[in-house]
Amino acid sequence: MSPTPTTYAGKLAAAHKALPDDFKKSKNWTSLAEWVDAIKAMGGVDDATIRLASYEDLQEIGLPLLLAKRVASIFRGQADVPAMDEAIAGEMMHKPISNWSMSALVEALEPEKALSPAATELKRRVKDAFVVVIGNDGELDKELTLRQIGLVEEGLTPNEYIDTSNGVLQVYKVGFGPHRIKDCCPMHPEQPLIEGRCIKCQQQWNDVPLLNRQLLFYATQLKLVNPEDRPTVANLAEIARKIEGGGDHLCRTYPEARAAMDKDAKMNQLPGLKVDIGAGNQAATGGSPFGSNKEF
Ligand SMILES: [Zn+2]
Repeated sequence: MSPTPTTYAGKLAAAHKALPDDFKKSKNWTSLAEWVDAIKAMGGVDDATIRLASYEDLQEIGLPLLLAKRVASIFRGQADVPAMDEAIAGEMMHKPISNWSMSALVEALEPEKALSPAATELKRRVKDAFVVVIGNDGELDKELTLRQIGLVEEGLTPNEYIDTSNGVLQVYKVGFGPHRIKDCCPMHPEQPLIEGRCIKCQQQWNDVPLLNRQLLFYATQLKLVNPEDRPTVANLAEIARKIEGGGDHLCRTYPEARAAMDKDAKMNQLPGLKVDIGAGNQAATGGSPFGSNKEF
């Protein structure tokens, strides 16, 4: 944790961070720049002026009393808050986003906002590379994200998955993330599951092991199974759900599917059976449950 911020940029960045997200959204202060504009509009143009901000001044621009107190204490250099790196805060305030360092972009990146200025700029630089790492806590892992970006800068192609001490993490393209990617039905791969269930075949799939779902996906793609044949699909789902022997049974029933699956497994191209539910934008997975690696 860095020390309490002491500069104008550092204080504004720390105060911005200290405000609850929902509140920032409601005030249109989502980006640091928007927040800085609001402070500048009230005359807070440098460290000396923001130090003078009273609770009342801050309440006037819409901060509720307790948040105003918190912000005022940050402005006075009295709050015990983690500071954003001062250099990054300075960049964010004084440079156009096109000149920001990667660290500043990642600091400002909010993975769920595909069209934010930070996301747009980062995408311009790294294109469709897999760089956005979401930790097991569901939050952006800034350090690992920067590491992935470093690979792109070296001309390498980062993987869609990375192995960490906390297990394997999926990596996303800029603008995509777990909030947009849902499990799909193995029989209707265009269909995201709703609470684990496919609305087309009415089957619950989230309690079926992934390998078995994959096998059924191959069987369907190879037209060994008709996905509209409800009783058959229900029966297959029932078999696939069995932990003991379910997979073996399916492999014996659909050896061609098993063979196709083995072939792709060797190339590390098994479908994740995920679908992008983001509206309008190009799919993270290229619209294919295989991810971007392969089209069926
Ligand atoms: Zn289905």
